Amino acid sequence: MHNFIAKPDELAGKTILVTGAGDGIGRQAAISFAAAGATVILLGKTTKKLEAVYDEIVAAGAPEPAIVPLDLNGATKQHYTDMANTIKAEFGKLDGVLHNAGMLGVLTPFTHIDLETWQKIMQVNLTSAMLMTQALLPVMALAPKSSLIFTSSGVGRKARAYWGAYSVSKFATEGMMQLIADEYENSSIRTNCINPGATRTKMRNAAYPGEDQRQLKTPADIMPLYLYLMSDQSCDINGQTLDAQTK
Ligand code: NDP
Repeated sequence: MHNFIAKPDELAGKTILVTGAGDGIGRQAAISFAAAGATVILLGKTTKKLEAVYDEIVAAGAPEPAIVPLDLNGATKQHYTDMANTIKAEFGKLDGVLHNAGMLGVLTPFTHIDLETWQKIMQVNLTSAMLMTQALLPVMALAPKSSLIFTSSGVGRKARAYWGAYSVSKFATEGMMQLIADEYENSSIRTNCINPGATRTKMRNAAYPGEDQRQLKTPADIMPLYLYLMSDQSCDINGQTLDAQTK
């Protein structure tokens, strides 16, 4: 799966929602899914960034994407219900969701974590994905085979000092993935987590400002696993957390 090369029509006919599609790993995932023939729904906070990704996908001759500007911190259950209804009306089904959007916050000792920051990180990294998934599962069930992917982290399996709410939100994301995977075990929906590993993005740079970013894998380098898990080649994989990078 780490050497997976998607055929140009690997995801043809599929509609895939990517959160945090304007930057970093999500931006690259949207571009890669579109290059493999998918119609991608670009969800993110900053409209300008989403428009730039839209332009890039259209210029490459891939299927025309859709744009959903949404701040996951303020979004309510109603936003997700409306979004699910629109996707159903426009596309008839949803074949894939990549929950990728996330925020790091500021690395800080446990006793210094303030409640406001804690709640914001939990909202953006965890609660929004729960509400969105609740709304989208019935539309995903309309696809013959659909893939739900959450994004974890190394600190979502083994906590590291000062990673605070971010770390806890990723542990909880792993738990939520397992919960959904078990409930939908005998269905057409499979649910898994990807741990991207150290990847050259703004978030990584914020966490490790002194690091030489050029030594890191790029978002494009880690795409084989993303494409594999979105493709029908991975239909038997459910309830797993997979590393996008091999050691
Ligand atoms: P970036 O910071 O580069 O991108 C994060 C994306 O999430 C941006 O598109 C951002 O939108 C979006 N986002 C953040 N907050 C919100 C919000 N409130 N509402 C909507 N969208 C929001 O991060 P990465 O690409 O590095 O990270 C992607 C995922 O991978 C995250 O879940 C992260 O935790 C995980 N990860 C990354 C690792 C790495 O080394 N890079 C390692 C392990 C895990 P905008 O730009 O508009 O703010």
